[in-house]
Amino acid sequence: MTHHTLSNAQERDRQDKLASYRDEFYIPTNTIYMDGNSLGLLSKRAERTLLDLLESWKTLGIDGWTEGEHPWFYLSEQVGEKMAPLVGGKKGEVIATGSTTTNLHQLVSTFYKPDGNKTKILADELNFPSDIYALKSQLRLKGYDPDTHLIRIKSPDGRYLSEDDIIEAMTDDVALIVLPAVLYRSGQVLNMEKLTKAANERNIPIGFDLCHSIGSVEHSLHDWGTDFAFWCTYKHLNGGPGSVGGLFVHEKHFGKTPGLAGWFGSKKESQFDMDHTMDPASDAGAYQIGTPHVLSLAPVIGSLDMFEEVGISAIREKSLELTGFMLELIEQELTESAFTIGNPVDGTRGGHLLLEHEEAARICKALKEDGIIPDFRAPNGIRLAPVALYNTFEDVWHTVQKLKVIMDEKRYEKFENKRGVVA
Ligand SMILES: *Cc1c(COP(=O)(O)O)cnc(C)c1O
Repeated sequence: MTHHTLSNAQERDRQDKLASYRDEFYIPTNTIYMDGNSLGLLSKRAERTLLDLLESWKTLGIDGWTEGEHPWFYLSEQVGEKMAPLVGGKKGEVIATGSTTTNLHQLVSTFYKPDGNKTKILADELNFPSDIYALKSQLRLKGYDPDTHLIRIKSPDGRYLSEDDIIEAMTDDVALIVLPAVLYRSGQVLNMEKLTKAANERNIPIGFDLCHSIGSVEHSLHDWGTDFAFWCTYKHLNGGPGSVGGLFVHEKHFGKTPGLAGWFGSKKESQFDMDHTMDPASDAGAYQIGTPHVLSLAPVIGSLDMFEEVGISAIREKSLELTGFMLELIEQELTESAFTIGNPVDGTRGGHLLLEHEEAARICKALKEDGIIPDFRAPNGIRLAPVALYNTFEDVWHTVQKLKVIMDEKRYEKFENKRGVVA
């Protein structure tokens, strides 16, 4: 392995074709931000479109629904279309709406159709709690006991899932499969194509949670034949706190009746006929429920411009280089016993790394004191996400240098090993 130096890092920044995008973002002063997988930073373009929409409210009032640069009435569809290339969806298969969890509820209430012995939902034991809460409550609504009807695939090591284990569990009693695309702790990217193929062969609808993958890794949901997917836009897509999420429904399901109905799922032309018989949109637009959260959608418009310009494959390429550089530096600079690497080191890693250590909570506090923003995940995880659009190789260099000092000098010992309320 080549020995890395600060000047190597700086040289890689000079060669970086995406380097200019860093200036498009507000980087908090004197900080190295490594938490873009939890909350992406504000960009000037996202700020611009948020201000534009505030202005349209200010100057147009109710007419903002149909006038101005971004008429509110068509925004969810337009933003959906802008997100489609990021998930490999066709026009009409993607809509900006709801949040991760509400979209999951909508999709499960549509695709979970227990019938005879086919009553179980297949998930995994490593998924994000909100997804599991939603699945359990959906089972209860249908009169099933989550203890017997929610199958959670076990991880052999507490970090990763085996696609073969998941496929083996796709038995005749399974009515629905919901899995993460990228695991939120270890960052493992599941082989969605292989899983979709296996589920399709067994006629079990399959959906993925893209929270940690959208804007970070590539997807071909349409071509794979994936039934549905859902995600948030405030992580790698930099849409801001609570920004509107998204969902994908494969066109093979167009015409299906969404489980949860509301007037914004209507055809645009007839929504305002105010008829008590709903005339649903013919595409994924049908999965909307109520009035869109226009001001929380606004920053997403500007933010997505950059993803359109750069393209997801260039973003993925740089992301792998940044995390690869960080892994090499950790090996070079830190003693072997310092951390357990909790993420895949091959191409199946997503956009963040996971360092495991029993003192993780206070190591994170020590990093923050030094101006480095990590992300703590109980009980022992430090997530670090060098983001392609705004982090540099030099950021990665300094992060590992600070970590080295904190570990060598045990500087974390002056903090309490306890997480904050939001961690
Ligand atoms: C971030 C995240 C969520 C959050 O759900 P919200 O409805 O946006 O609060 C859910 N699931 C996963 C896997 C996540 O990473």
